[in-house]
Amino acid sequence: METIGRFAPSPSGRMHLGNVLCALLAWLSARRQGGAYLLRIEDLDTMRCPRSFAELIIDDLRWLGLDTDGEVLYQSERTAIYEEYEAILREKGLLYPCFCSRAALHAASAPHLSDGRVVYAGTCRELTEAETAEKRKTRAPATRVRVPHETISFTDGVYGPYREALAEECGDFIIRRSDGVFAYQLAVTVDDALSGVTEVVRGSDLLSSAPRQIWLHRLFGFTPPAFVHIPLLCDRDGRRLSKRDEDLDLGLLRRRCKPEQVVGWLAFAAGLIDSPEPVAARELIDHFAWELVPRHELRLPDVIG
Ligand code: GLU
Repeated sequence: METIGRFAPSPSGRMHLGNVLCALLAWLSARRQGGAYLLRIEDLDTMRCPRSFAELIIDDLRWLGLDTDGEVLYQSERTAIYEEYEAILREKGLLYPCFCSRAALHAASAPHLSDGRVVYAGTCRELTEAETAEKRKTRAPATRVRVPHETISFTDGVYGPYREALAEECGDFIIRRSDGVFAYQLAVTVDDALSGVTEVVRGSDLLSSAPRQIWLHRLFGFTPPAFVHIPLLCDRDGRRLSKRDEDLDLGLLRRRCKPEQVVGWLAFAAGLIDSPEPVAARELIDHFAWELVPRHELRLPDVIG
């Protein structure tokens, strides 16, 4: 089976080095296997994700030497497709409206898991039709999907075996927000499946999303892709990079550096090369192997900045 990888950034700002690392490793893994590499712009929230940022991402990937295959997909243009899959969940009787506010969710959610994630308490799960009608007068509901008492297990390409009891460790989750915008979990599952993606490579902050996505894939009759989650990239002091670290966003880096320098730092941080020397992305393809990438946080070399 042909490998189909993808990069699925949310264009709410300029890419920083953490995003670039993800794009690079997904590209190397796909190209190493002779596979395709797709680009999908996750701009569901059009207020936060203007088209201009998406265009910069496309230009940044070109600058980095990470070529993509096929058409670029924009999630903001795919609402009708997500609605078809929402309808499938509705027909199965799995959806219900949820009127909980953010504050109510936080107050009612118990237990909080050790990693800070919150399990939905099920407050709106069994509302009667009359109660629902009453609540609709003052508040537009989000849409939640009921999860079963089922444990989802899979083997992550970097982190190894991972499992989650959906009901106990996640709870019913939102597939559409109260403003009508589809939630990430539904959109990402539908898009990966319809694009034939066989390998999802992304940051480890999304590791705990994989069980929900695997469950949705199976529910829709799709075969879930393989998942590889990348340890987070930290700066020299061990702090996680964020969009606030403007010195490490590509806008500034492109003015100061060559693409080979950026690729060299990241390849070094990811354990692919022994020193942070400049290297073109395509020169790394033949030596790429996931076994080289450590499980602990990845640190940028001192040479930056
Ligand atoms: N759009 C998500 C992000 O930029 C990544 C989604 C994914 O790769 O599944 O964090």
